[in-house]
Amino acid sequence: MVAEQRLCKKMTDTTTDVAVIGGGASGMAAGLFSAKSGASTLILEKNDKLGRKMYITGKGRCNLTNDATLDEFLREVPRNPKFLYSALALLSPQDTMRLVTQNGCPVKTERGRRVFPVSDKASDVTKAWHRALDDAGCGVRLNACVQAVLPVEQGYLLTSSVGRVYAKALVIATGGLSYPSTGSTGDGDHFAEALGVPLQPRSPVLVPMLTSDPWTGQLQGLSLKNVRLNAVRGQKTLFSELGEMLFTHDGISGPLVLELSCHLDASPLDAVETFIDLKPGLTHDQLRERLDRDIRENGRRQLRTILDALLPGRLSELMAGLSGLSPTLQASQLTKQQREALTNLLKHFRLHLSGTHPLAEAIVTRGGVDTKALLPATMAVRSRPSLFFCGEMIDVDAHTGGYNLQIAFATGALAGQSAAAFALNIPDRRS
Ligand SMILES: Cc1cc2nc3c(=O)[nH]c(=O)nc-3n(C[C@H](O)[C@H](O)[C@H](O)COP(=O)(O)OP(=O)(O)OC[C@H]3O[C@@H](n4cnc5c(N)ncnc54)[C@H](O)[C@@H]3O)c2cc1C
Repeated sequence: MVAEQRLCKKMTDTTTDVAVIGGGASGMAAGLFSAKSGASTLILEKNDKLGRKMYITGKGRCNLTNDATLDEFLREVPRNPKFLYSALALLSPQDTMRLVTQNGCPVKTERGRRVFPVSDKASDVTKAWHRALDDAGCGVRLNACVQAVLPVEQGYLLTSSVGRVYAKALVIATGGLSYPSTGSTGDGDHFAEALGVPLQPRSPVLVPMLTSDPWTGQLQGLSLKNVRLNAVRGQKTLFSELGEMLFTHDGISGPLVLELSCHLDASPLDAVETFIDLKPGLTHDQLRERLDRDIRENGRRQLRTILDALLPGRLSELMAGLSGLSPTLQASQLTKQQREALTNLLKHFRLHLSGTHPLAEAIVTRGGVDTKALLPATMAVRSRPSLFFCGEMIDVDAHTGGYNLQIAFATGALAGQSAAAFALNIPDRRS
């Protein structure tokens, strides 16, 4: 690594204008924009490579951004969207696409304007950021775990596994607490607390959900396509989307379910009615007519066979059971009320949510540094103008579709650029 070699191998008592703790998506962007602004910059990353989490994003393909307009983008951010105006003005999704393309990773846009590398390899996105960092002369120190952050006169003293680093300005880009094997283990939350920066509680979003229905395990592995998943609290619809989902040994997962988890927020789960419309292409009456017709034409067949024509295999038996009928019942024997009950069940298949999988299994960690404590125009802490946060360290998260990485890149870019501006304004008393 060219930039890394530029730094002394045995790094004791290094001095730099800007130090960035964490070399994930937001830390790389912070390092790049700081170095491009002319500040000497050092990224300290505890893993043996940069952007480890990025390698597993988008199922290894990395959905790096979303080719949306600003307004469209902000609609996908359920919490604190306005906080992102300045960051996205500095680095828009289209800027991110240009940046990685210019650094050897051409991109393509797929369904829902999700942007992926043409190669379908997440590693190519990380390599592009690496190349940009090298060209900008940003220092990178790998296997460098920062253990403590101490505010000192005109800057910060970092204690790390590779020695001490003094920096005039500091960017904390250590991510959230999900998938800790990638390095995001919550160190930044401890640093923030020690520096008196207020945090909102952490919780999992974009996460598989647990259900208490006794039959869940029977359906393990069953994937449903083109269904509508609904969540309602009282009169309020919290979520209603078409798409794919699947049953797991203890609940539900898949794209629709991850999205659902974003919308439940503070609602107690037992107050939320969750149900699947298994036949969203048909109205209740159309489905009832279809059932009547199938029974009229195949009256001697078993109920199971009639349902098999409408539903994926394992679900037919369960549906018959849940409506109190035997799957082997001859179809013509179904009463009017029983047909109506079956139709209701297919349009309103109730699930009972009982919780989420743990934070470690979430795609994104909600919570973190309170946006009210930061200046949105710079990402600086209001009470500490030399301290900056970015990425999942901040209490901003978005739906799936490339929005979360874009938030990390954009807030990182703004934090890095602002940290450089701050550091370059301090006269260097040491030289
Ligand atoms: C399975 C999965 C799939 C995903 N897919 C997508 C997707 O396709 N599109 C999308 O937009 N988002 C996706 N996301 C979310 C996205 O990856 C994150 O939002 C994003 O990586 C956050 O960036 P970050 O820089 O804040 O944190 P991270 O990427 O977690 O980076 C933090 C870095 O800080 C380092 N670090 C932590 N503590 C220290 C320390 N003490 N000293 C030194 N270094 C430290 C860590 O090692 C790590 O490299 C996915 C997430 C997961 C888990």
